[in-house]
Amino acid sequence: MRILITGGGGFIGSHLCERLLSEGHDVVCLDNFFTGSKGNIRHLLDNHRFELIRHDIIEPILLEVDQVYNMACPASPVHYQYNPVKTTKTSVMGTINMLGLAKRVKARILQASTSEVYGDPEIHPQTESYWGNVNPIGIRSCYDEGKRVAETLMMDYHRQNNVDIRIARIFNTYGPRMAEHDGRVVSNFTVQALRGEDITVYGDGSQTRSFCYVSDLVEGLIRLMNRDDFTGPVNLGNPVETSILEFAERIIGLTGSSSKVIFKPLPADDPRQRQPDISLAKEKLGWAPAVELEAGLKRTIDYFAGVVGGK
Ligand code: NAD
Ligand code: UDP
Repeated sequence: MRILITGGGGFIGSHLCERLLSEGHDVVCLDNFFTGSKGNIRHLLDNHRFELIRHDIIEPILLEVDQVYNMACPASPVHYQYNPVKTTKTSVMGTINMLGLAKRVKARILQASTSEVYGDPEIHPQTESYWGNVNPIGIRSCYDEGKRVAETLMMDYHRQNNVDIRIARIFNTYGPRMAEHDGRVVSNFTVQALRGEDITVYGDGSQTRSFCYVSDLVEGLIRLMNRDDFTGPVNLGNPVETSILEFAERIIGLTGSSSKVIFKPLPADDPRQRQPDISLAKEKLGWAPAVELEAGLKRTIDYFAGVVGGK
């Protein structure tokens, strides 16, 4: 198949490009390199089945493909809050453009949605039937509401125009090729620990997250894309939940670092707790994460050791 991956130069997108090429597909990677980098896909450039297009999805584009993975959108709070209007445009105008493309060429399209559609959840763990608790006017809204509208657009193109859609609600995912300075907790803590700098826990560290290794997530995305008669939305994430303070201690332990934990103010609207209920993914996709946190973190620490050491 010929497969378009928007945001293919980013963290998750680059792993998806790699995996789909290894399965023998033609891959078109489209990226404006706002948060992604050519370094993430440099090793793919010599592959004759790989094509790279520098393009911003808020502008229309004409391409002929069989499948579209719409991954383009800054994902870390620091990056998506840098230009919040642009973030909303990417999720809304970008998704309209990709849905228009899918409609024109009758391609199946998968939207990278997020656990942020649940906001600061009052239901725990979060199931797909929960409608969420999202602040529409806060500093995270450009991302959360943008992704919610993107889901709405997906469903309306499906109902109105019969577009073949898939919606994945991705929970916190980590692994090699996360950007060193993207401000997310896994990259921040790992880089701080490797450099012997203070580990910056926001708030008292009692808020929770559940971390999924990138190869597990990519497997879930591909299963969802290729499963017939199931649009989602479906949660994809690892249900093993940890507090951010425990997570800091774990990174210190695994890196053998002398870093100390320091506490910084909690950003506004930071969700208190997050854990996916993955019963639906298990039932419909036969999917569950396979990589344990410690194994995934060791691979991620090895990667960042190369980045920090200038390898
Ligand atoms: P990332 O920032 O590494 O990747 C996003 C990619 O999209 C980058 O390469 C960036 O340059 C590109 N991009 C951004 N705006 C664009 C635009 N207007 N036009 C073209 N390209 C554009 O982030 P990631 O972690 O790889 O996330 C990928 C997708 O998965 C995002 O849509 C994100 O919202 C979603 N997601 C990720 C997580 C996670 O924990 N990593 C969780 C939930 C959802
Ligand atoms: N966080 C932290 N220190 C950091 C970066 C993040 O304590 O240096 C916290 C953040 O406040 C949040 C959690 O870690 O509670 C996850 O943050 P991240 O930005 O990775 O993702 P998200 O909040 O979008 O889940």
